[in-house]
Amino acid sequence: MKGLKTGTVVVGTGPGGSTVARELAGRGEDVIILEKGRDHQFPIGSIMAYATMYDIKRSKDGILVRRGITTGGSTMLYSGNAYDPPAFLKDEIGLDLSKEVEETKTQLDIKPIPEYFFKDYTGTIKLVEAADSLGHQLEPQKRFIDPDKCDPTCDRCLFGCKRGAKWTAREFMHDAVNAGATLYTRHSVEEVLVSGGSAEGVRVSTPEGAKKIMADRVILSAGGIGTPMILQKSGVTDAGSHFFTDPMSVMAGVMGNGEGTFHEMTYTFADESNVGEFVLGNVGAVNAFIAQVAVKNIPYLRKALQMKKLTGMFVKLCDEPSGRIDASGKMHKAFTETDEKRMAKGVDIAKQIMIKAGVEPGSIAVAKGIGGHPGGTAAIGRVIGNDLQTRIKNLYVCDNSIMPHSGGIPPVLTLISLAKYAARNIF
Ligand SMILES: Cc1cc2nc3c(=O)[nH]c(=O)nc-3n(C[C@H](O)[C@H](O)[C@H](O)COP(=O)(O)OP(=O)(O)OC[C@H]3O[C@@H](n4cnc5c(N)ncnc54)[C@H](O)[C@@H]3O)c2cc1C
Repeated sequence: MKGLKTGTVVVGTGPGGSTVARELAGRGEDVIILEKGRDHQFPIGSIMAYATMYDIKRSKDGILVRRGITTGGSTMLYSGNAYDPPAFLKDEIGLDLSKEVEETKTQLDIKPIPEYFFKDYTGTIKLVEAADSLGHQLEPQKRFIDPDKCDPTCDRCLFGCKRGAKWTAREFMHDAVNAGATLYTRHSVEEVLVSGGSAEGVRVSTPEGAKKIMADRVILSAGGIGTPMILQKSGVTDAGSHFFTDPMSVMAGVMGNGEGTFHEMTYTFADESNVGEFVLGNVGAVNAFIAQVAVKNIPYLRKALQMKKLTGMFVKLCDEPSGRIDASGKMHKAFTETDEKRMAKGVDIAKQIMIKAGVEPGSIAVAKGIGGHPGGTAAIGRVIGNDLQTRIKNLYVCDNSIMPHSGGIPPVLTLISLAKYAARNIF
């Protein structure tokens, strides 16, 4: 690989990187894709995914954030819920992605989960009815999931989908490779090589040792944690601050009278009426239990014996961009006063719904501070311009780092659309 040179190096294969690479390779450009993770096959769909594909960081203040280090990035482990971009992208930045959003919805057949899919979800339906009686609407979710390939009793989207029912960025990565891009896995980009104020390649760490890959243009899509690490090591020292991650409180409780949400799919329903503060929705029993383990609610372990009666809900916070990722990847993040107030309000509503549905009040445990949407760390208007370029010429960012603040909603549809827009109008 010594002496490699290309037109564009794309770093990372999540929705940002894979979509850009697919667009550029599709129009015949010379593209190398560098991915830190492996192209995992085995643990997909099994609990081993947590040990191999997940990278989990914890702040000293008790917030944890999860991301995928594998081909396809965090989409290998996401729930597959699809949300339109937050309004501020158009209103505050003038970034109108509506054309690309509509195109993507058609291309990937994104639509709400059909009724036949959840008609036997005893515990989840109790939550939906209880919410309704309290004046909160839990609505069926739009998903990146093909219901015909999906098993409604599986609830393992977060372990990777072994049925191919869930769209992941691997599909676009494969399209890019089929169109002529070259993919190198287990290639971790350490820094961008700069000469005369312009990017001229990257320094990469590989199992065979350090290498240099020269390029006319470098696009960083290593995610809200990976991208600011590379930028800071490359001299862009204001990257890494303003970190947000949409931390969740995941609640688990025992349904007093009947079945809980065991074998029912997580995040099929959500109440989006408080977007900008929080979103709340249903959680399958296994995921509700795993969340308690993740935040070390150890006494909760005995509840595993009551798995069939466990019922879960989540409250996903729109947190303030108050954290920081440093060049070594260390995360500094605490809840602000506003975050605490918003979270308390959401948790209170979710508890009322659970209790109304028949969950024993004393059994409810709350796993607080589980994030999965890292971003804000190379924001438009602060670290990069509206053209996604850094102060280093020919060095661009295209992933969730570019968001100036959180929209409080899952970002994958936005990121695919952003990458299409950027590839067609900027790159
Ligand atoms: C459990 C969970 C559930 C989620 N559910 C949803 C959902 O339902 N809907 C939704 O829209 N979003 C969801 N998300 C969030 C979503 O998956 C991420 O926000 C999104 O994938 C971010 O895209 P990205 O391109 O910014 O980064 P990523 O998808 O994280 O991709 C970054 C890529 O860069 C690679 N990389 C990192 N550092 C380097 C380096 N130094 N060199 C080379 N490669 C590097 C990584 O391995 C990875 O492949 C969820 C996330 C998690 C963890």
